Amino acid sequence: MDIDLKYAYYPFTSCASDYVKRSGKSIESLLDGIFGRDVINRAKERVIQSIRGDIKNAFEDKDIPDIVDIEKELFSYPVARIFVSCIGDHYLIKRYALAEAEAAHVHMKAEEPEFLEKLAREFNIQCVLDRHDFQVHFADYLRFAYRMHDPEWKLVNRRLENGYVPVNKKDFVRLLQEAISDRIQSSLPLDLSHALKSSFSSHIVDISRHFDELKAEFRSDDFGEVNSECFPPCIKHMLALVQAGQNLAHSARFALTSFLANIGMGAEDIIDIYRVSPDFDEGQTSYQVKHILGSSGKAYTAPTCATMATYGNCFGKEQMCDWISHPLSFYRKKLDYDGKGARQSLPPMSSLK
Ligand code: SF4
Repeated sequence: MDIDLKYAYYPFTSCASDYVKRSGKSIESLLDGIFGRDVINRAKERVIQSIRGDIKNAFEDKDIPDIVDIEKELFSYPVARIFVSCIGDHYLIKRYALAEAEAAHVHMKAEEPEFLEKLAREFNIQCVLDRHDFQVHFADYLRFAYRMHDPEWKLVNRRLENGYVPVNKKDFVRLLQEAISDRIQSSLPLDLSHALKSSFSSHIVDISRHFDELKAEFRSDDFGEVNSECFPPCIKHMLALVQAGQNLAHSARFALTSFLANIGMGAEDIIDIYRVSPDFDEGQTSYQVKHILGSSGKAYTAPTCATMATYGNCFGKEQMCDWISHPLSFYRKKLDYDGKGARQSLPPMSSLK
């Protein structure tokens, strides 16, 4: 039984799951032995890494992974899904799906267009490979592009040729990332037996601890007064750009607004920050800010450092950035490090460096 190494990077594909099924190994069989232990540890690592930021490449330190390494990676994916399902929290499911999709995105960028076309078929994306670019059926394009914040993704800003939208490889990979995230998210949680849940209970306790820590870090009512001195460098940079009268890209505007909202700033204070922007439109800014704060019933969490880096919004990393995976964690740690007594109100925009 053979499998290409690359499927270890795409464990959600039918090819990878067929391989796992054909191996004849059951989940129960993983509870004993060295192979099973390694698979379970990697599965746990997958979920914890997704909570903390991004799922790291398991083969980073290996020149040539062997079949056992590949199998561990392939088997760890269904076990990770079990772990996420045992906790069953909607936010964790979303975060895990996003992290798996982002991890795949890193590898997809280096793939040949033919492989990407094959991958798109997994997600029923109707597309045509056109040399190095792609033509995506407009219905499939809309299925995944509608949630992208940047105006460049709006269909009115794209060419349409006989019902197909031409996209370059970079954008095609981004659409695939959304498709992967959707597929994983919609397939969770799994319906698991009580016996199976019990056999993984100690691992679930460990994962839940990390998840609880994350939720505690993000509890906005616990951040106290806003202290701009403790903002991460990326957020300080964005604020400085706004203050200098520069328009922020949509992804940066979303990151800045959601960050400020998550640390407890009110809508009016956030809107005031954008007043100096050359393209300031009170009505539109108010709508966007309130939407991010949750006016439609869903409040948004600021993007992780991995997502910030993907959009070119990670700027001016400091030493503390090596210890965290989320700008909110940076802020939380800096507040704790500097001491609550040092907290102060947000200074005037003019004093921000
Ligand atoms: S590592 Fe994270 S917190 Fe630090 S600058 Fe980059 S995005 Fe901001």
